[in-house]
Amino acid sequence: MKSGDGFLRIFEKRVKKNIRLNNLLSKEDRVVVALSGGKDSATCLYILRKLQEKKVFKELLAITIDLGIPELKKSLEKAKKICEMLEVEHHIYSLKEVFGYSMNEIWKKIQKLSSKESVAAPCSYCGVLRRRILNQKARELKASKIATGHNLDDEIQTALMNFIRGDLLRIARLGAKTGVANFQEFIPRIKPLRVVLEKDIETYAKLRKIPFSRRRCPYSKLAFRNTMRLVLEEIEKEHPGSKYQLLSSVDRLASILRKEMKAATARNCKICGEISSQEICKFCQLMKELKLIK
Ligand code: SF4
Ligand code: ZN
Repeated sequence: MKSGDGFLRIFEKRVKKNIRLNNLLSKEDRVVVALSGGKDSATCLYILRKLQEKKVFKELLAITIDLGIPELKKSLEKAKKICEMLEVEHHIYSLKEVFGYSMNEIWKKIQKLSSKESVAAPCSYCGVLRRRILNQKARELKASKIATGHNLDDEIQTALMNFIRGDLLRIARLGAKTGVANFQEFIPRIKPLRVVLEKDIETYAKLRKIPFSRRRCPYSKLAFRNTMRLVLEEIEKEHPGSKYQLLSSVDRLASILRKEMKAATARNCKICGEISSQEICKFCQLMKELKLIK
């Protein structure tokens, strides 16, 4: 993309097209943004605020989850700052207050309880906990949609990771809007930024003077996603445009898979009653692993 005004126009046009073509927003929506304080979610909040001012949808709020990772304290401050700047109602929930443990404490506990070979990266646990808090709190706040800052790079990394793991169901679920029909307790997720590259979001945020934190979570280097990131950067360097092509292939594949996998329906978890693709949801599986429930 070009620099300056042209860049900003093209960027916003691309995001708005994604919102329009996929019906991500409607007039009566009360949207909660999952705001970490990083560039992606800060940009997502900024663009949605502009659209709300134009009455594309009704209400906008933000939720930040304080994971209790000291290195991410700056992100929390930036999240507060952007909400003040944009005059957006901001709710902060601490993992420790909700579950009794911070992410650092959970990770220590998991390492102690699990055998070395079976222990997964902290991100798999963090993702489950964050999703649970986000869905519960957004429901309490009577949100009709949850918007996340997922970008194009995130989407293709996720697709590749699931392809390698053979998890076709998760590929089928990829898209600009995710939700589960017939399960009102699950608030649809929307990804307005999934059509733009991570590096372009950074440029956009800088040009628009959006406050954001550059701090990376110390656990991110342990994630499988990090390997995917490096591989995809290498491919893009050798074959420019590959990332866009990959996203379009993922979308075509996901649409075919959704038709083929109709049978894989959601149900309520046997323990907590939340929506799940398995008998016991990932959250309860984790609580069992941590020996917090039987
Ligand atoms: Fe959580 Fe992993 Fe992200 Fe850190 S990098 S915030 S552990 S998902
Ligand atoms: Zn459960």
